[in-house]
Amino acid sequence: MTKQFTSHLNIDALFLGPKSENAVFFREMMEYAVSEHMHWRSDFHPEDPALVTSVDRYAPDYRETLYRTEGILNQLSAKLKNTSVPWFSPRYMGHMNADTLMVSNLAYVMAMMYNPNNCAHESSPTTTELEIEAGLDLCRMFGYDTRRAWGHITSGGTVANYEGLWVARNLKTIPLAIARHPQSCDLVEDKSEQQLLNMSSSDILDLTDELKRRGIFEEVRELSCRGVGIKQGMFGKVLVPQSKHYSWMKAMDVFGIGQEHIVPLPVDEYYRTDVEKMREITFSLIEQGEPILAMVTVVGTTEVGAIDRVDEVIALRQECEERYGASFYVHIDAAYAGYASAMFLNEQGEFMEYDELIRRYRGLEIIPDGVIWPKPEIYQSFRAMCHADSITVDPHKVGFIQYAAGAVCMKDKRIVDLISYRAAYVFEDVNDQPKQPVNRRVVLGSSIMEGSKAGATSAAIWAAHRLVPLNINGYGKVIAAGIVAANWMVKKLLATEPLVVGKRCFEIHVMPHPDFHMVNFTFKERGNDDLGHHNRLNKRMYELCSYATGRTYTNDFLTSSTSLGYSEYGDTPWHYVASCGFSQEEWNKVRSLYVLRAAVMTHCLRNTDDFDEYWERLQEIFIHKLTQIVDEEEKKKVV
Ligand SMILES: *Cc1c(COP(=O)(O)O)cnc(C)c1O
Repeated sequence: MTKQFTSHLNIDALFLGPKSENAVFFREMMEYAVSEHMHWRSDFHPEDPALVTSVDRYAPDYRETLYRTEGILNQLSAKLKNTSVPWFSPRYMGHMNADTLMVSNLAYVMAMMYNPNNCAHESSPTTTELEIEAGLDLCRMFGYDTRRAWGHITSGGTVANYEGLWVARNLKTIPLAIARHPQSCDLVEDKSEQQLLNMSSSDILDLTDELKRRGIFEEVRELSCRGVGIKQGMFGKVLVPQSKHYSWMKAMDVFGIGQEHIVPLPVDEYYRTDVEKMREITFSLIEQGEPILAMVTVVGTTEVGAIDRVDEVIALRQECEERYGASFYVHIDAAYAGYASAMFLNEQGEFMEYDELIRRYRGLEIIPDGVIWPKPEIYQSFRAMCHADSITVDPHKVGFIQYAAGAVCMKDKRIVDLISYRAAYVFEDVNDQPKQPVNRRVVLGSSIMEGSKAGATSAAIWAAHRLVPLNINGYGKVIAAGIVAANWMVKKLLATEPLVVGKRCFEIHVMPHPDFHMVNFTFKERGNDDLGHHNRLNKRMYELCSYATGRTYTNDFLTSSTSLGYSEYGDTPWHYVASCGFSQEEWNKVRSLYVLRAAVMTHCLRNTDDFDEYWERLQEIFIHKLTQIVDEEEKKKVV
C-alpha cells in the first residue's frame, strides 16, 4: 500500500452506508465479481461441447425449476427483511455489530463463487495463502515477530480460544513425556516433576527442537496427553477472570481438563481482573505446588468492555520465573478489542509513544479534544500484548468483517507441531524447490481445530487489511469513530436532566469511564428504592429496544442488555448500584444488576453536529418508550 492513498482513507467510502449511499459502486462491483467468475467458467476449455443447450433450457420443467428457484429466493428475502437486525444503522447500538466493509463483502462473494476450501491447499491454492497472510497481518499488529509467529482464521473467538487452550494443554505435558522417553530423558534429568510442570513455553519449545534433531519428536509427542490421554488433574489450573466469556467453560469441558480446574480471578471496581488478588492467587498456587496450565487475560470483556492489565500479567509471570522458577502460558482473549491494537501503530507499524500517539490523534482529527482515549494503563496493556503466547481476535467484531471470522495468533509457530496431524515441521521448507514460498506446504486442516472451511472468509479479511491498513491511519480511524461516539454518548447520558413522564421522573445512569466503546446504562425512577423493580424496569426497556417486541425493522432504537450478577462480579456492581441511590441492603438482597448495553461502533456519528442531532432524537425515543412502560403499569394496576 502506498502511503499517499492510505493517508486519504475516507471512512464513508468504506461502507455501503446507512442509506446505501454507495449503492451504485457496490452493485457495479458485485456485478464485476459475478461476471468475472462467469467468464472464468466459459473460458475454461472453450473446445468442450455445450452440455446444456438452448433447446434443453426451453423444456417446461427446466423453466419451472428456474421459476421455483426465484420463488424460494423471494420467500427468503421477505423473511430476511422482516426480522433481520439493522446493524448498519446508528439506531442499532447493542452487540459488537455495525456495518461491514464493502471490500470484505465483495471479496467474500467474489471468492465464494470459486468455492475454495481452506482445509487443504490443493482445494484452495489462492485462499490458503491469503489466510496465512491475513494471519500474519494480525500477528504484526500485535507486535509479534512475523518470522517466528503464526496466525490463522477461525470461525470465531470461541474456536480461537479453544485453540489457545489446546496448544497450552499439549505443551504442558511435553516435558513429562520427554522425561519418559529413553532417548530424551537426559534432557530433563535435573528437573523434578514439579519443575517439569512449570517450565516456560519457550524452554519447552527449545527442547522440541532437540527432539526433532534426534528424530524422536513424533514418538515423544505421542507420550504427551495427545497420545496417552489425560489423567485427572495432571495439568494444574487455568486462571480466568471471573467475568469470563462462557467459551472458557466450554473449552475446559471439551479438552477434558474439567471446569473445576478453572480458578476464577476476581475483578476490581473497573470490572478488570483485580491485579492484587491475581498476584496473591498465583503465588499461593505455586507455593502449594499446584502448576498453572495457563493464565487467561481479557482485552475487552464481553459485558462491559473492560481491558485487563496485560502488562501486570506479563510482569507477574516474570516475577514467578525469577522467584520460584515457575512459569505459565499466557493467552489473551482479545476477541472484542483486539483490532484496537491498530490504533497504537504508526504507518511503519511501530508502537508509538504515548505523547506521540495523542499528538497524532489530534493531528489526524481522529480523536478530538475532550475525549480521553486511551487511559495510560490501557496503553500499557496494549503495549504488553506482544509478550503473550497466543491471542484471540475476532475480525467479525471490531474488524468490521461479516461472519464467520475469528482468528488466533501464536507467538511461536513451533507450537503448531504439538497439535498438527502431519509430520512435524510443516513450516520448514524441506522440499526440493527452495524458491517456493515457505507457506506453500501448510495444510491448514491438519494444523488447526476446524476441517473444511470457507476460503472466502480469508479473501474477505485479506482484502480488508489491504484497503484499511492495521495502523492509526486505517483501522485506527474507523475504530476511533466508535470510541468517540461512545464517549459523547456517556457524556450526554451523564448530563441529561431526568426524563419526565406524567408525574413520574426517570434519571439516566451510566458507567462513567468505559475502557473501550461499550456503554452500559440504566433508567432509574426517582423515588424507587427497590432494586428488583429497577431491574424489571430496565428489562422491559430492553424488550422495547430490541427484537423482543417483534418490531425489529420498525423499531426506532435497538440495544442489548446483560445482567451483572454476584457470581461473576462479586460486589463490583454494588458501586454502580450505590451511585444510583440504592441501599446496601437492597444490593445484598438482589445481588444482580440489569443494564442496557450498547457497543457503540458506528462510523456515522463522528461529527459533533450529527451526534447532537442524533442524541436529541434518542432522548425523545427514550421518553416515548418510558411512556409506554408507564401506561402498561397503569393498566396492570387497573386490572
Ligand atoms: C465474542 C467473544 C468471544 C467469543 O467469540 P465468538 O466469535 O462469538 O465465538 C470470546 N471472548 C470474548 C471476550 C468475546 O467478546
